[in-house]
This record gives sequence, structure tokens and C-alpha cells, in this order.
Amino acid sequence: MVSRVIPVDPFDLVIFGGTGDLARRKILPGLYRRFCSGQMPEGARIIGAARTETDSEGYRKIVSDAIHEFDPKSAQCGKLDAFLSLLEYETVDAMGEAGWNELRPHLRDGHVRAFYFSVGPSLFGILAERLSHFGLVDDESRIVIEKPLGHDLATAKELNATLGAYFDESQIYRIDHYLGKETVQNLMAVRFGNILFEPLWNAQHIDHIQITVAETVGVGGRGGYYDKSGAMRDMVQNHLMQLLCLIAMEPPSQFEPNSVRDEKLKVIRALQPVPPHHIVRGQYDATDSEPSYREDVENARSFTESFIALRCEIANWRWAGTPFYMRTGKKLKARTSEIAVRFKPAPHSIFGEDKETGSQPNELIIRLQPNEGITLSVTIKEPGPGGMRLVNVPLDMTFAEALGEEAEAPDAYERLIMDVIRGNQTLFMRGDEVEAAWAWTDPIIEGWQARHDVPKLYDVGSAGPDDALMLLHRDNRKWRDIKA
Ligand code: NAD
Repeated sequence: MVSRVIPVDPFDLVIFGGTGDLARRKILPGLYRRFCSGQMPEGARIIGAARTETDSEGYRKIVSDAIHEFDPKSAQCGKLDAFLSLLEYETVDAMGEAGWNELRPHLRDGHVRAFYFSVGPSLFGILAERLSHFGLVDDESRIVIEKPLGHDLATAKELNATLGAYFDESQIYRIDHYLGKETVQNLMAVRFGNILFEPLWNAQHIDHIQITVAETVGVGGRGGYYDKSGAMRDMVQNHLMQLLCLIAMEPPSQFEPNSVRDEKLKVIRALQPVPPHHIVRGQYDATDSEPSYREDVENARSFTESFIALRCEIANWRWAGTPFYMRTGKKLKARTSEIAVRFKPAPHSIFGEDKETGSQPNELIIRLQPNEGITLSVTIKEPGPGGMRLVNVPLDMTFAEALGEEAEAPDAYERLIMDVIRGNQTLFMRGDEVEAAWAWTDPIIEGWQARHDVPKLYDVGSAGPDDALMLLHRDNRKWRDIKA
């Protein structure tokens, strides 16, 4: 099997914050990989725009250095000079007048025009206003923004209203890079491209679902931001919520942006409020050699969570009574992101008691990182003579090996940027989805504040506080091990 690369039309892409960390680490190396693969046409233009004082030549050097630093393997593809020749730069101040009129000659009429806001969220509204004020927006224009999309429902509404004053919803691309992952899309292919799974995809046949996003790193240099946010706002409201939507949604009538997003929205709206005893919050403790969360964020009285586990329920016919357990945290045992769909046991075992035969219920594991892939555990007979002993084996549904290195899954960012250029919003969040997610999140956070809820301490390198284990033990269930 060989992956097919379908080139996009020539485009103009302006990266506001084009000298920043996100642009250098993810966006520009991603664009270069698309160029190497032949997907990005020669006629494309990438225009860096930031406060940094430099010119196009200086910018090419910045980008060349970034590609060598963050993607040394792709740097070897042999097309770096050709890629760098597509780059231009303009020093622009989002807060003032400088640079805006100079930006205009970089943009061509009749080309797709994309503006990537790779800057802090306080600049999103201002950039939208400036673009409109300086007449840089046409029908082919689109903007790309990324989390944090608001801090709560009120600020998310405000942001949507501000952007909506200058851009139609069809021009706003809200990135959640989890949706750009090959495996997340494969999940939809597996669910809706086969007849095998959908009949079983409900409360009758699925015992429960676990969504885990575990990190080994702490808050790093983001302490100030993170402490005002916490795991609920930083991870659950967006990334884990999106994964939950794709697992739980009804089949859309078409794989088309609004059909898919309508179904995701219904899931979020059907999420039940979560009672306090179904939530465990944690903060990582200090070790002999590493600081605690509170030391990391330099706030000795911080009540912000660096870990959260929740037991959620979706109130609809498909899922009534099926728990969705979600957990995410920092400084945990291993870096891993996965969704585990645990089916119910076969209704009657003809081979004897499960604990004697070794039979286990089926489990579908959708692994986002590391080693993206989907496996289904199935029970078979253990090979060899000596009676009917059963064994669970993984059925690999990824075919990564068959696809080979040439078809290496593109990074989420590069795929999503190409979707922006193509004008396909299927894998982007709509404004009402973001608001619905905040509407569910806000009362939970307000409850903690009202009760002065104190996060439980957990050991670095653990699976979170013990109470998180109890959340499942109480239901006679167990979390999957967190392992890379
Ligand atoms: P950064 O501080 O490294 O870069 C900010 C960029 O914005 C710089 O290029 C700077 O010149 C430009 N800028 C700042 N003020 C400006 C102004 N007034 N006018 C014009 N340009 C201005 O930040 P970053 O890490 O690249 O993050 C950008 C955004 O992306 C943030 O909202 C962040 O939360 C989000 N984000 C970052 C990452 C990441 O990996 N770094 C991941 C996900 C989301």
C-alpha cells in the first residue's frame, strides 16, 4: 500500500507569531515535510509576520535553523533551499499600525489566503480586527487559532463573537491537534467504514471506556499560565472532550464538516453534570531531586490540579449507564495517550469459567502516542495440544508496517494545515462545540472553588493519586496500566 499525496493549490499563508516557539517547533517543520512529500506546490507563499525585527533573508535563516533543530531527519530531504525560497517576512505589530500596509503586497488576489494566529490568545481578537481594518480579508481568507479558546463559557462566547464580527464561521479553523492524528481519523474509519463494530457500539455490549492522556513532563516554563488553567481547562475541556466525542457520537450522515460537528455537539450536550465524588484532582509532590507542582508554579497555596480523573456519563439511548472514565496528568509514569473500549464478556462461556480458561473480554485500544495504532484484543485457542486453553491476542488494525516508511503518518499539524488550505473544516472545532464544552466544564470548576477543593498529592512517576484508582475500584473495574 502506498500513500497518495494530493497536491493543494498554490496559497498564501501568513503566520502571525512566525518567529515563536509553536511556529518554529511545529508549523514550519510540518510545512516543510508537506513540501518534501510533494503536497505543497511551488507557487505557495509562506509569510512570517511577528514583532521580531528581521527581513525575508533573516527569516529564512530562522526557519532553516528551526527545521534543522526540530526535524533533522526531514532537513535531509534535499529540498530545503527550494522551500526557503517560498518564505517571506514582514515585521508587524498586532497592537499598532506598523507593518500592516507592508503586508498587503505579499498577498495575491485569487489565491487561498490563510492567517495562522500563532500568538497568545489575547491577540486573537485584535488580529481579526486589524486584518479587516486594513482590508486584507477576502472571501478566500481563513484564520487558524488554537487553544486556549477562552477560559470559561463567558470568555469563549466573547472570543467567538469578536471573531464572528470579522469572519464567517466557515472561515474560522479552530485547531485541536488531537483531531489531526492519523489514528483518531482511523477510529472514525474503523467505526463507520465497517459493519462489525456499530451493532456492538452501545451500552448493551460495551462495559466502559477509558481515555488516558498521561505526560511525564511537569509544567515546565508554562507555570504561570498553567496555574491559572489546570488539567481540566488545559486538557479535558478540549483534547479529551474531542476524543470522547469521536468515540461516542452517532454516525454522521456524511463525512462532511457540519454533519460530523453536529453529532459531536450532541454528545457534549448529552454529557451529564459530574458529581464531586466522581472526580479526583491531584498535584504532583516533590521528590528528592525534583520540585513539587507548587514549587514549579511558584505558588505555595495553589489549588490548581496537575492531574484529574473523572467518571462521566452520557445521557442518551446509546450510552445510558456506560461510564466514560477520563484521566490526564503531568509527571506520571509514562507518556501515553490512548482510548480503551472495554466490551462486556461473552454472555455464556462454553469453555468453562473465564478465570480457568484465560479468556478476557474484547478490548479495542486506540493509541495516539507513542506508536499510533489500533488493536483489538480477541480470544483464540492457545496453539498446541492439551485441551482447550484460551489466550487473548492483539489484532493489529493499523497496517503501519504494510504502509511502510514512505507512508509515515504526517504530523497532526501538517495534516490540519493542508485541510485549512483545502477548505475542509471536518477536523476543526466549531464555535458552538467549544461553548458547549465550557458549559459542561464551568460548573465543575465553580464547584471546586465554592468547596475550596484541595487536590490530592501524588508521587512523580505514579499513575496519579490513589483516589483515582478507587474511582474504578468502586465500580469493580481497573484502570489500564500507564505504559509507553
Ligand atoms: P512565543 O512567545 O514563542 O511566540 C509568540 C510570537 O508572537 C512571536 O513570534 C512574537 O514575535 C509574536 N508576537 C507577540 N506579540 C506580538 C505583537 N504584538 N505583534 C506581532 N507579533 C507578536 O509563543 P508560542 O509558544 O509560539 O505560542 C503561541 C500560541 O500558541 C500561544 O497562544 C500558545 O498557548 C499556543 N500554543 C503553543 C504551543 C507550543 O508548542 N509552543 C502548543 C500549543 C499551543
